[in-house]
Amino acid sequence: MFEKILIANRGEIALRVLRACRDMGIRTVAVHSTADAESMHVRLADESVCIGPPSGTESYLNKAAVISAAMVTNSDAIHPGYGFLSENADFAEMVEEHGITFIGPTPEHIRVMGDKVQAKIAAQKAGIPVVPGSDGAVESPEEAIKVGAEIGYPVLIKASAGGGGRGMKVAETADDVVEAFKVASGEAKSAFGNGEVYMEKYLSKPRHIEIQVLADSHGNVVHLGERDCSLQRKHQKVLEESPSPALNSSERERIGQVVCEAMRNIGYRNAGTVEFLYENGEFYFIEMNTRLQVEHPVTEMVTGVDLVREQIRIANGAELDFSQDEVSMSGHAIECRINAEDPVTFTPSPGQVTGYHMPGGLGVRVDSGLFSGAKIPPYYDSMVAKLIVHGRSRNECLMRLRRALSEYVIDGVTTTIPLHEKLINAQDFIDGNYDIRWLEEFVLGDDQKANR
Ligand code: ADP
Repeated sequence: MFEKILIANRGEIALRVLRACRDMGIRTVAVHSTADAESMHVRLADESVCIGPPSGTESYLNKAAVISAAMVTNSDAIHPGYGFLSENADFAEMVEEHGITFIGPTPEHIRVMGDKVQAKIAAQKAGIPVVPGSDGAVESPEEAIKVGAEIGYPVLIKASAGGGGRGMKVAETADDVVEAFKVASGEAKSAFGNGEVYMEKYLSKPRHIEIQVLADSHGNVVHLGERDCSLQRKHQKVLEESPSPALNSSERERIGQVVCEAMRNIGYRNAGTVEFLYENGEFYFIEMNTRLQVEHPVTEMVTGVDLVREQIRIANGAELDFSQDEVSMSGHAIECRINAEDPVTFTPSPGQVTGYHMPGGLGVRVDSGLFSGAKIPPYYDSMVAKLIVHGRSRNECLMRLRRALSEYVIDGVTTTIPLHEKLINAQDFIDGNYDIRWLEEFVLGDDQKANR
């Protein structure tokens, strides 16, 4: 087993990986920017290396600095977490070239799945159903008009290099398609340095349902059920749950098998998530994430599997030590992403936490690097904590979540805790009756009330 792992990330996910390492008796190296010198992942790690100034590009995204830190500390492997360098195929390659293990899939899989046009082609070839759309990239406004007429309106124009919900534009009718093409491709160019776009049928009220898989380098693949991530704002997830209130066990079994078969076909390795839109009983692939996801704890809570531990074992060449038949899902879990943001306007609220109290008790888990006195720097993502709650039933989970949210105190900055409190008391949410548009309508309803 590895003796020492460098964690190339910050915040709650750095801490999450550190905890798995500790549980396995592996020593840890934290890297950090000057802005994060006092942070919890640095304090708890066995060693730490400052890799640059606050800006992400000069620190957590600086490949050479991260690899040098691994070399000087004699680290055996690097865990990239999510975001930053986690889906950077060049980085994975560089790490391996330096004789260090990258805890993740092969650079080839990262590369293919990172290009959404390529990913869709690969998924389709491997037997996964996809959203109807263009055959690969759409090169010009004229081609967009042609494809639009073929697939039928409304259509969604999406960036091949997209991520985080950016570079997406809806065209309601043929009249909008030229403009939407130009806007999406312009946005993609400035956000990702690559203006290539493709087109998909715009599904009106789907749910976002994703399947978690684990695959080792010996050809064993298992799925760990689904997560429902339909509660989104600006195409970004806000709250996730497992199992999905919309699926029954035979649908879960069917899509899980399709995904496992596809992963075997492509020879995938490590943890991965295959994301689908689900409408009228049908699944449509949208993308695959070749890394650990923010919302992985809901799967851990219902299956009891430590996903980071499995990632580390797989990267070390071990076989999965359980089979599909041994995976059982028990009870219900919900995760609330807590951001340091205004709960109504969503403007970021960096600053110093002046008082801190975490909820606890049976079935309550908090993944966060916060503490009383912690500084939330303005340079990074505003998600500062994840509250994950498990119950034997969805109802028990909801009651417990209500209780846990009411106990949570984060003073000194504003957070989205009040949004979650409101949201989990909404009747549609209680009934499990929501889709990817529901949250924005719910939030908008509030703004309108405020303006009256
Ligand atoms: P990103 O990589 O930017 O997160 P995704 O392809 O995963 O992009 O899509 C993010 C979200 O955008 C989805 O969860 C869904 O809410 C919405 N979306 C994506 N494709 C479609 C589509 N064809 N129809 C309707 N909504 C879509």
